[in-house]
Amino acid sequence: MKDVICDQFQDTVSQLLIKHKSILDVLTKQQESSTRVNRAIVKAVTSCGCVEIHAIKQEIGDEISMENIHEALNNHVKGQLCEQCREVVEQELGNHLFYIAALCNSLDLNLLDIILKEKKKINTLGIYNMLR
Ligand SMILES: [Zn+2]
Repeated sequence: MKDVICDQFQDTVSQLLIKHKSILDVLTKQQESSTRVNRAIVKAVTSCGCVEIHAIKQEIGDEISMENIHEALNNHVKGQLCEQCREVVEQELGNHLFYIAALCNSLDLNLLDIILKEKKKINTLGIYNMLR
């Protein structure tokens, strides 16, 4: 059961990637795109202010069961991305996906196969996967 959209995306990336065809360029562009995702999120906090980060030490008491661990932990994000910041973060994540697909193409790997293997792994490990 192949997901056609994922394969089409990877094929389109292959056709469009001309300027940065070398794997060295792909590796550095992929790293740059990851940084740009982080920067877009930080700018949502520091420039726009639509979201805030209130980070504290995560306390997991002995009385917390694995089933209730989601309620005990916090992602430290307060608020929601405004429309403009959401658009920028989505654009940067899309650009990051482009270079991940390009890296797959450079190494003759199938992006969907990787997603399916990871899905199988996290389904198998279940909640214990969170502790890695
Ligand atoms: Zn915003």
